[in-house]
Amino acid sequence: MKSLDDNIGMLKGVGDRKVAVLKSLGINTISDLLYYFPFRYEDLIVKSLDEIIDQEKTVISGVVASDPIVSRFGYKKSRLNVRLLVENESVMVTFFNQPWLKDKFTTGQEVQVYGKWDQIRRSLTGMKVLNLNEDQDVDSVYSVNKNIRQSTLKALIKQGFDEYIELIEESLPDNIIEKYKLVTERELIKGMHFPDSVEETENARRTAKFREFFLFECGMQNIKNIDQAKKSGISLKYDQKIINELISQLPFELTNDQTKVINEILDNMKSSSHMNRLLQGDVGSGKTIVATIALFAAVTGGYQAALMVPTEILAEQHFEKISQMLEPLNVSIDLLVGSLTLKQRKQKIEDLSTGKTNIVIGTHALIQADVNYKNLGFIVIDEQHRFGVGQRRTLRQKGKNPDILAMTATPIPRTLAITTYGDMSLSVIKELPKGRLPVETYWLRSNKLDQLYKFIDKELKTDSQVFVVTPLISESENIDLKNAEEIFDNFQKIYSNKKVAILHGKMTTQEKDTIMNDFKNQQVDILVSTTVIEVGVDIPNASVMVIFDANRFGLSQLHQLRGRVGRGSKQSYCILIADPKNEVAIERMRIMTETNDGFVLAQKDLELRGQGDLLGNQQSGLPNFSVGNPVTDFNVLQTAQQEAQVIFEMDPNLDNPDHKMIKSYLLKKMQIEGNFD
Ligand code: ADP
Ligand code: MG
Repeated sequence: MKSLDDNIGMLKGVGDRKVAVLKSLGINTISDLLYYFPFRYEDLIVKSLDEIIDQEKTVISGVVASDPIVSRFGYKKSRLNVRLLVENESVMVTFFNQPWLKDKFTTGQEVQVYGKWDQIRRSLTGMKVLNLNEDQDVDSVYSVNKNIRQSTLKALIKQGFDEYIELIEESLPDNIIEKYKLVTERELIKGMHFPDSVEETENARRTAKFREFFLFECGMQNIKNIDQAKKSGISLKYDQKIINELISQLPFELTNDQTKVINEILDNMKSSSHMNRLLQGDVGSGKTIVATIALFAAVTGGYQAALMVPTEILAEQHFEKISQMLEPLNVSIDLLVGSLTLKQRKQKIEDLSTGKTNIVIGTHALIQADVNYKNLGFIVIDEQHRFGVGQRRTLRQKGKNPDILAMTATPIPRTLAITTYGDMSLSVIKELPKGRLPVETYWLRSNKLDQLYKFIDKELKTDSQVFVVTPLISESENIDLKNAEEIFDNFQKIYSNKKVAILHGKMTTQEKDTIMNDFKNQQVDILVSTTVIEVGVDIPNASVMVIFDANRFGLSQLHQLRGRVGRGSKQSYCILIADPKNEVAIERMRIMTETNDGFVLAQKDLELRGQGDLLGNQQSGLPNFSVGNPVTDFNVLQTAQQEAQVIFEMDPNLDNPDHKMIKSYLLKKMQIEGNFD
C-alpha cells in the first residue's frame, strides 16, 4: 500500500545517489518532498524591452537570429552566446555553464528566455529557456545544492504529486479553514509548487504560513501540557552562604543587573515549580559569571549540573575559567567534547554516571545516547539559539525534570519569545560592566585595504591583538569569497615581524586549543579565523576585529563577532570590509557603524529580513520556519497560537477525529526529536 511515509527511493529514477542528495536537503519521504516548498517565485510574464528596468529578472520573447556558440574555458566552465531578435532589436543572450541549452535554439524559431537584463549593454544573462507549450505565469524556485538541479527536483516533486496527492489529508480543522478563508491542504500543495497564477500562489502561501505556525503552536501547547502533568520541578536547597563567599571573591564587583538576575534564577531554583528561563544580555554583558554562580548553587544543593555550548572552543574556554573559580571550592568539573580518545571518553562518562563529576561542560557531546548522569538537576544552555528544540529536550531528559537556564545575546521581543519558545520566564541584563568603551566601527571598501594595514600597524605598536575573520575556508567553491588561507598568507607577508596564526573548523581540537592559548597568552598578535570564533570567545586584550566580506553576514552575526572585542578597558575597533551591491546590504553596513546596541540591531535585522533579506536567518534566535516569518507575519503567528490554545483547552489529548492529523503530526515529530519522557 502506498503511503506518504514511503521512502523517496520509491519514485522512478531515484537511486541511492539521489536518495543521499535529497536527504541532504532534509527530504527522506514522499511527504517531505511534497512539503518541500519553493522559497521564491519568478514572474514569467513576458515583458517588452522598454518595460524592463536595469538588472531586473524577467522573460523576453524573440526569434533566434544566430546559431548558438558555446565556448568552453577551465574546468566545467562554459559560455553560450546566441542572438535573438526582440521587437526589431538584436539582443545578445549569454548563458554560463549550461552548454546543453544549445539544442533549444534553432535559427528562425521563437523562444522565451528568463534572465537578468543589462540596460546599458542591452543584453540578457540567460538563466533558463521556457517551454512555450506551458502557459505559466509564475515559476517556483527551490533551495537546492550543487548536487541537484532545480529541474530535477521539480520533476520529482511533480512525480510525487501525481502519484500521492490523493493521500494528502487535511491537517487544519474545517472550522479554521472556513473562518480564515484558507485553501484545502491539497490546494495548498498544488498552489505552492505548480501555481497557474500569482493569486494562486498567494492563497497557497497564506495557508501554508498559517498551517506551519499552527502546527508549531500545537507542539508548544503539547509540551506545556506534558510539563504541567509532571507539575513540580526540583526544589533546590542551595547554600546561600558559600555562594556569597564565591561572589565576594570575584576579581570584580557584579553589576546591579547581574545581581538582579542571579537572584531571579536562585529564587526560581529554590521554588518547587520547574524553571525554564531565558537569560538575555548583550555580548560582553557578563552572562558567564551568572551561569557559573547558578551551576555552583546546584552543586551546593547536591545535584549535578551541565553547561552546553555550541563550539569546542567555547567549551574549552568556559571549562578553564569555571574550573579556576570553582575548583578551590572542591567542585569537580569535567569537559566533554566530541574529539576525545575512547579511553578518555569512557572515563569521563563513568565519572558522570557515578556522580564523581559535579559539573560537566561540553558541546552536544553531552547529549549522546551513552552519556548518563547520576542526578542531573540543573542545565545551562549557552548561545541557546544555536541549538534545536530536540537537542535542548534531549539534554533535559538526561535528568529528572532539571531546571533550565538558556542564555542568548539575541534580544527578541518578549511577545515573540513567548510565542516561539512557549512559556519561558525572562531575565534580562541591560547594563554592561563599568568602564567599557563602546567599540568604534568603520566600514571600508576592499580597494582601501592600505588604510586597514596602516591602522593595524598602529594598533600593534600598542601591544593590541587583532582578530581577522573570513567567511569561508578554501574548500569552498565560491571563488569570489576571499578565503582564510589566502588572507592568512597575505597578513603573514605584510606583518612579517609579527606572529600571525590561522584558526578554522577543520582543525583538530588540540590544534585549535594550542592556537587559542597562544592568542590568549599574547604569543600570537594576529589571529586569522573563520567564524569558529563567532560566539562567546573572551580575550579581553584583543582590541581590533576585522571582518572580511562583511556583507555576507547578518547583522546579529556581525554584532556577535564585534562583541569579541571591547571586553577590556581598552578602546576597541571593528573594521568591516565590504563591497555591498544592493540597498539592503549598504543599509546593513551603515547601521553597524552607527549603533552598538544589540537590541536596536536585532530589530533592524528582523525588519531588513522582512524585506526579503535572507542573510542571518540562522542567527536570529528564532526557530526556523520554512514559509512564515515570525516577525513580519507576527499577527498570523499570534492567531495560530490562539487557535492552538482553543483546541488544547477543549481536547487536550486530541481525541476528536477532527484533530487526528494534528495528533499524528505531533507524534511523528516526537519520534524524530525524541520522546518527552
Ligand atoms: P557574555 O555575556 O558575552 O557571555 P562574558 O560572560 O564572556 O560575556 O563576559 C565578558 C567579560 O566581562 C569577561 O571577561 C568577564 O570576565 C567580564 N565581566 C563579567 N562581569 C563583569 C563585571 N561585573 N565587571 C567587570 N568585568 C566583568
Ligand atoms: Mg557568552
